[in-house]
Amino acid sequence: MLRTHTCGELRLSDASTTVTLSGWVQTIRDKGGVLWIDLRDRYGITQLILEEGVTAADLFATARTLGREFVLQATGQVVERKSKNPNIPTGDVEVRVSALTVLNPAKLPPFLIEDETDGGDDLRMKYRYLDLRRNPVRRNLELRHRMAQQTRLYMDGQQFIEVETPVLIKSTPEGARDFVVPSRMNPGEFYALPQSPQTFKQLLMVSGFDRYYQIVKCFRDEDLRADRQPEFTQIDCEMSFVEQEDILQMFEGLVRHLFKAVKGIDLASVPRMTYADAMRLYGSDKPDTRFGMEFAELKAVHQSGTFDTVDLTSGKGFGVFDSAEIVVGINAPGCASYTRKQLDELTEWIKRPQIGAKGLIYVRYNEDGSLKSSVDKFYTESELKAWAERFGAKPGDLMLIISGDAAKARKQLNELRLEMGTRLGLRDPNVFSTLWVLDFPLLEYGEEEERWFAMHHPFTSPKPEDIPLLETDPGAVRANAYDLVINGTEVGGGSIRIFNRDLQARMFSLLGFSDEEAKAQFGFLMDAFEFGAPPHGGIAFGFDRLCSLFGGADSIRDFIAFPKNNSGRDVMIDSPSTIADKQLDELKIRTVV
Ligand code: ASP
Repeated sequence: MLRTHTCGELRLSDASTTVTLSGWVQTIRDKGGVLWIDLRDRYGITQLILEEGVTAADLFATARTLGREFVLQATGQVVERKSKNPNIPTGDVEVRVSALTVLNPAKLPPFLIEDETDGGDDLRMKYRYLDLRRNPVRRNLELRHRMAQQTRLYMDGQQFIEVETPVLIKSTPEGARDFVVPSRMNPGEFYALPQSPQTFKQLLMVSGFDRYYQIVKCFRDEDLRADRQPEFTQIDCEMSFVEQEDILQMFEGLVRHLFKAVKGIDLASVPRMTYADAMRLYGSDKPDTRFGMEFAELKAVHQSGTFDTVDLTSGKGFGVFDSAEIVVGINAPGCASYTRKQLDELTEWIKRPQIGAKGLIYVRYNEDGSLKSSVDKFYTESELKAWAERFGAKPGDLMLIISGDAAKARKQLNELRLEMGTRLGLRDPNVFSTLWVLDFPLLEYGEEEERWFAMHHPFTSPKPEDIPLLETDPGAVRANAYDLVINGTEVGGGSIRIFNRDLQARMFSLLGFSDEEAKAQFGFLMDAFEFGAPPHGGIAFGFDRLCSLFGGADSIRDFIAFPKNNSGRDVMIDSPSTIADKQLDELKIRTVV
């Protein structure tokens, strides 16, 4: 070995032993007669010292020629430092160098290899191998490693077995486009890369594997929204002989295990909310529950008996509210002191095209108990008081209200709620709030395509009690489908599956597949259902996202060793790239003119 110790290992108790270290030059401080070198590896930093008159002259001269990021091997005696550095574990000692080998010189790196770097995103991605030398990025990958290890530990302890499924397959519908790979041996034919191992894990249940998991790459050719990767990693899981409750318990267990083992956090049990409630209270199926600020409705019609139909706004001459399907708002605690300027700025913010609200109405609940609103012309103070009651507002609070089409208004208010949460400092990345969202609708209607789409995927089972609605009111059918949400991010989702050929065929036909199409694409799965398929269900977690959440970061990119940029490019290896005509010919996919 080219070293006896790592650069993070030496302590005062090692003083006077002779050691050999290998690593990279972090910094060199040349104080004339004394030279200090910080030598770095992934374990830490150890200070080397060379002194004129003490260190051999040629050695001292060589040391002076070194630069940042040179790879060195240094041998010497461990000595106690005169001025100690309490900030690093090796800070009590230094190594008095008696022999030095330059294992490899280095060009000056294009950005600083420091915790705070001067390198922009593009540069860091082009030289990702240098970026990975930086502590914050390295720590992220170490976190990822621990997450994977602990996942395997938990799953193994629960009798799950890890099975690899193929990567060259055919389309698995998860709602994105497929990446395809041409087959040279079958000219004109293509494999698709898995959007998930969905069909294979279901087949494994038919095979009797009973509890399967896999930490697995998936591929989705989507228009890249911020912070999506065309290839990403899932913790993919499936179980047989289970109901929804069993899955929720099992994977709540996984999440709690990860929080405990990786972050030392004892997570309270994960609360549950129906999709309908999440939409009504937060305008989102992945609400950030680190803070309250739930929606209050001043005008809304509810068909089902569970929620109140209400109207506290109509007939007072305010046309905007009169013609609105819904009037809904949030109460921002302690914000009554917002100035006119701040309110105007908030109004502009919500009117931006990305959000698209037509306007913002406010009601200030002043400390003295009086109420002042931007619609004073139409509503009396006692009417505003009734609103305030509905909002649960107190003196000092500010009510922010929008109106319009119900679905749009809820979506816009969701954005406003998150923005206010951020402004009020209620979204601390080191506070974790988890939530199961349950009872998703089975289907959603695509207005453009004029057909139904599976909200989760076509293998998801309707709730047995809702099956009769499949023919009469498909939009009202609820699924045994669930999402795990942490801090407003969907980190996992799954469902109880269909395991009956006829129901699966009905589902495909509802989704607009002809019998032939369904058979051609998924005949293998429907056939399997006729050979003793057990009841089964599962879930998949977005592993990159889970890691970034645990790391308290917004971006998943820094938790992936070699990520792609926002245009789906790997700028380091310059991929995707063109291929040679010869390859195209072999693949028979070149248009010959
Ligand atoms: N295959 C699903 C997904 O990728 C997860 C599941 O239903 O288990 O979202």
